[in-house]
Amino acid sequence: MPNSSNNLNIKYIKGVGPARAEILAELGIYTVSDLLTHYPRRYEDRSRLKEICALTDNTVETFRATVTGANEIKPRRGLTLTKITVKDSSGFAYLVWFNQSYKKNVFKPGMNLVVSGKIQRRLHQIEVVHPEVEIIGDESDMLNAGRIVPIYPANEKITQRTLRTLLNNVFTMLDSAESILETLPAKVLHDFHLLDRSTALHQIHFPTNKVSLNAARRRLAFEELYLMQCGLAYLRKKNRQNRNGIKHSPNGSLVQAFKKSLPFVLTADQQQVIREIEADMEDVLPMQRLVQGDVGSGKTVIAAIALAKTVENGYQGAFMVPTEILAEQHYHSLGGLFAPLGIRLAVLTGRLSRRVRAETLLQIKNGLADIILGTHALIQEDVEFQKLGLIVTDEQHRFGVQQRAKLQDKGDMPDVIVMTATPIPRTMALTVYGDLDVSVIRQLPPGRKPIRTFVRNSDRRGKIYQFLVNEIKKGRQAYIVCPLVEESSRIEAQSAVELYEQLTKTYLKDIDCGLVHGKMKPNEKDAVMDGFYRGAIKVLVATTVIEVGVNVPNATVMVVEGAERFGLAQLHQLRGRIGRGNYQSYCILLSDSKSKETQERLAIMTQTADGFRLAEEDLRIRGPGQFFGTRQHGLPDLKIADITRDIAILLEARTAAQQTIHVPEELNSVRPALEKWFGDQSYEMIFCN
Ligand code: ADP
Ligand code: MG
Repeated sequence: MPNSSNNLNIKYIKGVGPARAEILAELGIYTVSDLLTHYPRRYEDRSRLKEICALTDNTVETFRATVTGANEIKPRRGLTLTKITVKDSSGFAYLVWFNQSYKKNVFKPGMNLVVSGKIQRRLHQIEVVHPEVEIIGDESDMLNAGRIVPIYPANEKITQRTLRTLLNNVFTMLDSAESILETLPAKVLHDFHLLDRSTALHQIHFPTNKVSLNAARRRLAFEELYLMQCGLAYLRKKNRQNRNGIKHSPNGSLVQAFKKSLPFVLTADQQQVIREIEADMEDVLPMQRLVQGDVGSGKTVIAAIALAKTVENGYQGAFMVPTEILAEQHYHSLGGLFAPLGIRLAVLTGRLSRRVRAETLLQIKNGLADIILGTHALIQEDVEFQKLGLIVTDEQHRFGVQQRAKLQDKGDMPDVIVMTATPIPRTMALTVYGDLDVSVIRQLPPGRKPIRTFVRNSDRRGKIYQFLVNEIKKGRQAYIVCPLVEESSRIEAQSAVELYEQLTKTYLKDIDCGLVHGKMKPNEKDAVMDGFYRGAIKVLVATTVIEVGVNVPNATVMVVEGAERFGLAQLHQLRGRIGRGNYQSYCILLSDSKSKETQERLAIMTQTADGFRLAEEDLRIRGPGQFFGTRQHGLPDLKIADITRDIAILLEARTAAQQTIHVPEELNSVRPALEKWFGDQSYEMIFCN
């Protein structure tokens, strides 16, 4: 059998006719290779199943039995009970279905079954209502019984048994180890102690024991992660080869003056990150750097220094932020720093009047604006830069990879910094941002006191708001976050208005309060935010519009209503709005949820302020899809690797990939697998600019 058998059409496999081929196609299986990588969803250890007499009441159990008979009763109109009697050498049990009469024709006396379901012991009878049942062969049926058995993702048109038989047929056909193509270089197999592919595939489908199953899983997960990392490393290398970007000069008087003018001393981490950025900018290769730093770690100033540097070199800098509130805030804070040095700052958002927008566009085009701060408005067609040298994207996770690329296209290989406060778990950063260099800010600026966080039932609201009022009286400010309404921003706005009215009539009667939500007119929003920045507004009732970036160091209290509706990473972002100054800050999470899981989840917030840990918890609890909202990263799906669990494997795979990428023969040997794996995804398009 030639190596190409892996791509053989599935219909050449014994047991697959045209009809079955169609059913398999519905499961995404077209070739032998697809079938081989149709990995089990889980396994059942059928090597030691309990006997019927030993089954535990009120517990989900799995057992083997033989059908002895069927019977049907109609206790009342409209209700049919179908009872299949089964037995093993230790006793009898009844499988029961309501209104599924056809079951009595499915199970014939003498059939061997594997039954899973909740055991109900009644007097001397054992019943299992609506069990999961699999028909298997006799004692000699080693594919389906007497061993660790694979359970596949399937649909109702194909049985587990059929899938197992087909896989067995494939293995019989391929027969020898040579015909399953090895995808990993021999050196990698050896260095990382991995099973060969053929053995791994055999074992993942028909494991000899748990040890060999784990080894198989490790090998196959490694393969996926390794290929992904090779792809990313390869593109990265290609991206940077023969690419003449902008070579910025070493720091001159402008950058030095700017650094001197800062109202604080940079932390060691900030200085380190700035050194990394400066080195990249002074290099001819285009910079592609991710700056990762927890909320409040001081990323804005890093962006500002890099922007000043590009201006010093005669270029323009673009600073893209996800919300208008943030654009306004940066405009105020950066404007104050840049103006004394003669650096001209322009702002471009969706809310500018036509006249102002046209003027701003002209300034950008003619080079009359040095730094352009803006929202998505920056990537619109008609925005033209005179000479774009650096792009900074703040809160990168809020943008798609394509949006980042679009802005880059507006310059001639500009340097790029992306910043994120969402503490993307390390594993995610490696996979999603594997094409970027990464700088990390670990420490917070000095003087910050850890925020004290509490989870409270809403019957304590009176006390909590009393506490908030006391803090206001001491001169502090506060945020009240409205419950999240994910489905509709209109309903969310409505409930925000209600909460605002309710609070200002009761607990906060004598306090200056403001309200912001997503449905307000831009100038109304501005007025409120401005009042809060100035300190005229003491309490800001807000939806998640304040989630990113807002910086009011005098705010020390945050009350989150309906806290259970938020993800941990999001709560962490919100909480990052306080604890930004020298005062003790307090975060109170209000929740009436009785769910144990929710309580545990919220309790994590009280235990740690480590954004990375919280994000990892979130990722574990909610999965990567939820975590990132949409599938914006454009990476191929992983069939077996799980980046929330396989961190160790990922790190090894990454090490291996980084070695491979520098050895042409090795890279060539993985290229076919790489191409097959990435397929025709628009992968290059996304990552190559
Ligand atoms: P983030 O990383 O969340 O974007 P910011 O850049 O908004 O954080 O900074 C948070 C606050 O910390 C701001 O008020 C900023 O002026 C202040 N800050 C930044 N760096 C330092 C520093 N080295 N020392 C003291 N305060 C700092
Ligand atoms: Mg920020």
